[in-house]
Amino acid sequence: MLVDFHCHTTVSDGVYTPSEVVRLAAAAKISSLAITDHDAVSGCREAAAAIKREKLPLSLLQGVEFSIEAGEDEVHMLGLAIDDQEPRLVERLHAFSADRENRVYKILAKLEKLGYSLTPEEVFAAAGDGAQAVGRPHVAAALVKRGYFNYVYEVFDKLLYNNGPAYVSHLKPSLKEAIDLTHAAKGLAVIAHPYGISDQSVLEEAARLGIDAIEAYYPQHTPEQVKHYKAFARRHGLKVSGGSDFHGIKNKYPHKLGVYAISAELLNLW
Ligand SMILES: [Zn+2]
Ligand SMILES: [Zn+2]
Repeated sequence: MLVDFHCHTTVSDGVYTPSEVVRLAAAAKISSLAITDHDAVSGCREAAAAIKREKLPLSLLQGVEFSIEAGEDEVHMLGLAIDDQEPRLVERLHAFSADRENRVYKILAKLEKLGYSLTPEEVFAAAGDGAQAVGRPHVAAALVKRGYFNYVYEVFDKLLYNNGPAYVSHLKPSLKEAIDLTHAAKGLAVIAHPYGISDQSVLEEAARLGIDAIEAYYPQHTPEQVKHYKAFARRHGLKVSGGSDFHGIKNKYPHKLGVYAISAELLNLW
């Protein structure tokens, strides 16, 4: 049985709509999939409707990916199997995504000073209809479309990296708030792609604050890292999760859903 507990749709920075993503998952023989858009849960509802309508052999976990304020680092945390109607969660996610939209205008002002002119409309067009988490990838895509750069990653390397020349931070919950919001919505709080955290002591703090699981299986993790994070989970009494972080972006592995799916027996979330 194959599972994938981390994936994105057009509701945030993914290329495929929620309906397309569940179709791709079913075609790839994935039996359980979590949709985890940045700061938004609305894709889960569309995905669930598509599964029902098309009788896809797939179970869906409703999820969300939080960006967490943690010093110099941006830590990501997934809320998995959440109740997407939980009022406090819904209200806070709304505040986070509204602030992301504000931030686009601030990034554009910085870019203008750096000699790159772009309209908000170009960025929102890059994000597409229904996008609730407009962010740096969309700004980068708009700059590429304008011909300033050839690739999105070049824009990140030159301008949009954390604390880079055109970087603007946005409203983020603390680790504690994200864990609390997830638990209030009856979900599991999971530290996402832990290899990307430069200060690994954040993981100890997460364990102290009541995190439930760690994403040990992740496309960019080496076999040693998988082993390391599984041992970390064991030491702290945490569960082990895994996901592909599929976005459907051409130059970002995995570009195809299913090429990094995980055997359910490797995980122990439930
Ligand atoms: Zn992430
Ligand atoms: Zn992600």
